[in-house]
Amino acid sequence: MTISSMKQTGRLSHAVQNIRPSGIRRFFDMASTMENVISLGVGEPDFVTPWNVREASIASMERGFTAYTANPGIIELREEIAAYLEQQFSTPYDPESEIIVTVGASEAIDIAMRATVNPGEEVIIIEPGFVAYAPIVSLAGGVPVSIGTKKENEFKITKEELEAAIRPNTKAVMLCFPNNPTGAVMTREELLPIAEVIEKHNLLVLSDEIYAELSYDNQHYSFARLPAMQERTILISGFSKAFAMTGWRLGFVCAPTDISAAMLKIHQYTMMCASSLAQYGALEALRNGREEVERMVTSYRQRRNFIVKSFTEIGLSCHLPGGAFYAFPSIEQTGLSSEAFAEALLKEEQVAVVPGDVFGEGGEGHIRCSYATSMDSLQTAIERIGRFLKKHG
Ligand code: PMP
Repeated sequence: MTISSMKQTGRLSHAVQNIRPSGIRRFFDMASTMENVISLGVGEPDFVTPWNVREASIASMERGFTAYTANPGIIELREEIAAYLEQQFSTPYDPESEIIVTVGASEAIDIAMRATVNPGEEVIIIEPGFVAYAPIVSLAGGVPVSIGTKKENEFKITKEELEAAIRPNTKAVMLCFPNNPTGAVMTREELLPIAEVIEKHNLLVLSDEIYAELSYDNQHYSFARLPAMQERTILISGFSKAFAMTGWRLGFVCAPTDISAAMLKIHQYTMMCASSLAQYGALEALRNGREEVERMVTSYRQRRNFIVKSFTEIGLSCHLPGGAFYAFPSIEQTGLSSEAFAEALLKEEQVAVVPGDVFGEGGEGHIRCSYATSMDSLQTAIERIGRFLKKHG
C-alpha cells in the first residue's frame, strides 16, 4: 500500500486526529527565530536543580543503579513521598499500595484518566487550565466538558458552576489549584462546597497539585484532605516545579488501592518504571531539599509581588495569584484578542507571553506571563509592555 492510499484509508487514529497541538508551541517557535526576546512564556522554574540532588543522581550512576526498578518506583522513594505528603499536606498514603512514581505528573494524569474513564464518559475540566487535560481525556476515550472560571471570582470554581455541568454520564472532575495559568488557589472553606457536590453525585476527582509548594499566602490545602474525599480523589504531583526538576521527568500519583492497582497495570505495560537515576535524585530532594524549596518559593513570591504591582502601575488589571509562577492579567482594554495581543507584543517589543485563549474557556482577554525569570528580565519586560500599551491602549 502506498503512503497516499494509506492516508486516504486513514492511517491515523480518530482520537489523535481530533486533538490539536498545544497552542503554546507556536509562540515558542516564533520567538526562537527572533533576537533580543524576553520570554515570559515558559512554564518551568528558572533555577537549576539543587546541587545535592544532582550529586545524588550522579552517585547512583557511579554505584551502578542502572537497572529497572520496581514498577511503582523504589520503595525508599515511595516511603519518602508518603512522609512528605503527610508532613506538608496532612494527606496520609500507604507507600506499598497507594503511591506510584511516574514519568512526570504528565504520565500520572494520563494513567489516572485511562484507569477510570470509559468510552463516552464525561470528565469536567476547569478552565482556563493546563493544556493537556482535555486531549488526555479524549485519548482515554472520554469526553471533556469545560467550565470556564471567571476573573470576578479570581478564577475559582463555584459550587453552582460545577453543579450545572454535571450530567448522568459525568465520571470525574479534574481540579488544579494552584492553577496553571491563572495562579488561582482555593482554601479549605472554598473547597468544602465543591466536595459536597462531588459526594452528592458520586464523582471521582483528579486533583493536580503539582504547584502545591508554590503557595505564597497560605499553606496549600489538599483536596484529598477534605472530609470523605481521599477515597474518591486521585492526587497528582511531582518534582518538576517545587524542586526545579522539569527535565528529570519525575512525578507521582496517589489513590485508593483499587485505582492505584489499575493505574499500575497501565504504568507497567507502558513505562515499566520511571528512570532509576531520577528516582535517586528525587530521594535526596525529599530527604534534604526543604531549605532549597523554601529559598526558591521566597524568590518566586518576591517576583510575583513585583510583577503584579508593575502590571497595575502600567494599567493592566491583574488579580494577585496565590500560587504557581504565572500572572494572568486582563488585556481587554486594548480591544485586541489575546492571540493578536501576544503576536503584536512579540513582533513589536520582543516579549513572549502566552495568549490566554489557548488555556480554554475563560482565557480569552488575558495573557499568561511566567515570572520564573530574572528580575532584570522582568523589569525590562514591564518597560516594553508599558510602551506597547501606550501604543495600543
Ligand atoms: N500539571 C500542570 C498544571 C502543569 O503546569 C504541568 C507542567 N507545565 C504538568 C502537570 C506536567 O508536569 P510534569 O513536568 O511533572 O510532567
